[in-house]
Amino acid sequence: MRPTVARVYLDRVYDNVQWVKSQLNPHVSLMAVVKADGYGHGAEPVARTALAAGAESLGVALVEEGITLRNRGIRVPILVLGQVPFRQIAEAVDHDLELVVFDPETFDQALSSGQKGGKPVRVHIKIDTGMGRIGMRPDNFDDEWIERLRRPGVIFQGLMTHFAKADVGTDQETAQQTSRFLDVIERCRKNGMAPNWIHAANSAATLRFPGTQFNLVRLGIAMYGLKAYKGMSLALKPALELTSEVVFVKEVGKGFAVGYGGTYITPEAMKIATIPIGYADGYRRGLSNKAHVLIRGRAYPVIGRVSMDQLNVGVRLEEGVEVGDPVVLIGSQGEQSISADQLADLLDTIGYEIVTGLSARIPRVYGN
Ligand SMILES: *Cc1c(COP(=O)(O)O)cnc(C)c1O
Repeated sequence: MRPTVARVYLDRVYDNVQWVKSQLNPHVSLMAVVKADGYGHGAEPVARTALAAGAESLGVALVEEGITLRNRGIRVPILVLGQVPFRQIAEAVDHDLELVVFDPETFDQALSSGQKGGKPVRVHIKIDTGMGRIGMRPDNFDDEWIERLRRPGVIFQGLMTHFAKADVGTDQETAQQTSRFLDVIERCRKNGMAPNWIHAANSAATLRFPGTQFNLVRLGIAMYGLKAYKGMSLALKPALELTSEVVFVKEVGKGFAVGYGGTYITPEAMKIATIPIGYADGYRRGLSNKAHVLIRGRAYPVIGRVSMDQLNVGVRLEEGVEVGDPVVLIGSQGEQSISADQLADLLDTIGYEIVTGLSARIPRVYGN
């Protein structure tokens, strides 16, 4: 196996889930969101760990992701959070995936697929209370929808919305979305309709605005130990470490240009250590001349451009970095640590994009 690997510590996922559970109001259930291959951590191992730690259902983005989990023998409720294309509805229902529904055509197709297969369909009605993405506007949840949800073969499994600014906004912005959602809940109640689950909160809302937990939260990023919002103090443990090895070291003189474009010129005679990871692995080119890596418990700067498969770090002549030394790109070594959130800050993005961007070329290994 190549020296560059992502090591996923499932015990940390477990602890993170348990910690979030300790922050939940009584009787709030936890859905573990494992879309995008468990945010790059491995959907199946993360799902099993989260379920062992007390999650009761799973969320994925795609029908394919749900089917993969079913094929691996996972039997708990799985909700497909994204819009399900017509051509995948039958397959989704066949695999007992729960669907997010907000248009009559999808509803009808789901119902008839269920009838063909002789099983009820479980639908979660999605209300767009201000995200401006999928979901029907609150006013469109009318009597016709109430009637649809009463049809035989349909289980009104959930009523849901999603917040646009739970991580960055003010209390009022999320409160406004919540109040639109409460109106719809009230309309259901007046008509004697009670969805099994009412859910709105992602990680940020769960932790910042506990009043939005209703009876289910959809937990993603916090489970992986990354920040759900800026300034979040981390009681959580980052679950993924990205490590490699020094594969080559050479000495160069002052004024030596390093890497594509020669964007780094050595200010003095120094050593260059080469690490076999690049942007094709998801270690982004934007980190060129910005990020650091850890070797022998010390931080070394990434010098020159990150190329597709390799990058270089600068080492002073007197320092004893050698071929074979372990390198930490994300994670900790000795007293030092580098988080995916810190790399995200350098790139003006969020930790989500760093971990989901680690490509399939990086083997995932599981540790404790
Ligand atoms: C991805 C996703 C989540 C999880 O969000 P986090 O911020 O990672 O906790 C929740 N709900 C929906 C609809 C999602 O798509």
